[in-house]
Amino acid sequence: MSDSHAIRFSTPTPPRLRVWPETPIIHGFLGRVGGGSRGPYDSLNLSHFVGDDPRAVADNWERVRGTLPESTVFSRVNQVHGNAVRVVTHADAAARPRADGMATREAGIVLGIFTADCVPVLMISSQPQVACALHAGWRGVLSGIAANGVRSMEELGAPTSAIRVALGPSIGPCCFEVDAELAARFVREIPGSARQARDGKPGKAFLNLRGIIRDQLIEAGVPAHAITDPGPCTRCASDQYFSRRAVAGTITGLQMSFVGFTP
Ligand SMILES: [Zn+2]
Repeated sequence: MSDSHAIRFSTPTPPRLRVWPETPIIHGFLGRVGGGSRGPYDSLNLSHFVGDDPRAVADNWERVRGTLPESTVFSRVNQVHGNAVRVVTHADAAARPRADGMATREAGIVLGIFTADCVPVLMISSQPQVACALHAGWRGVLSGIAANGVRSMEELGAPTSAIRVALGPSIGPCCFEVDAELAARFVREIPGSARQARDGKPGKAFLNLRGIIRDQLIEAGVPAHAITDPGPCTRCASDQYFSRRAVAGTITGLQMSFVGFTP
């Protein structure tokens, strides 16, 4: 008997940007494409806290989980634009503490970070297997979350020289216009960030947030060649990525970036 008429329920695989080829590394930068949410959440919003239909969010989560090994456990934090990085184990993977970063040495835990313009930072070491994920907006960058991420990985046994980092899709130097006063604060507080700033309209300046984080990581000991920054500016590519600035700070969904090791 032919099965050509059998009904097949296929779950569309949400596309994700990946940078590391090794199979034990589970990671990716998801965008807004490949989900079922509507309106400002169109379509792969994975946050239950931005006003989206909970059923649509749950369905989006199913689509993402469907692409990962079954026993994978997702860990998340209640992101508050701070600089705290929590160490996560299977015992407390569901705790969701207030923090903007997570690190783990336990396989099977995948660390998920939500963004819509801020920089999602994924970090790994393969020997030993340590993963770290950070949410780095300008406040987190100023307060040193990148170096805190490196320190957390070191504390879990990862040599700094073995750390690899991917700075994901986020607002680019083309679109990240801030008050000149804030840019001046970066220049004052973070050595070298003058190179990552340029003048904008009177009273304004443009910052290269990914460039500043890269400098901070190198300062913290991560080899420059081990840092990559795939993906476009979220505001310029707002058809592929949620961008708070693209909707002038109004309602938007959030995309998720994640990293861990296979169970
Ligand atoms: Zn841009």
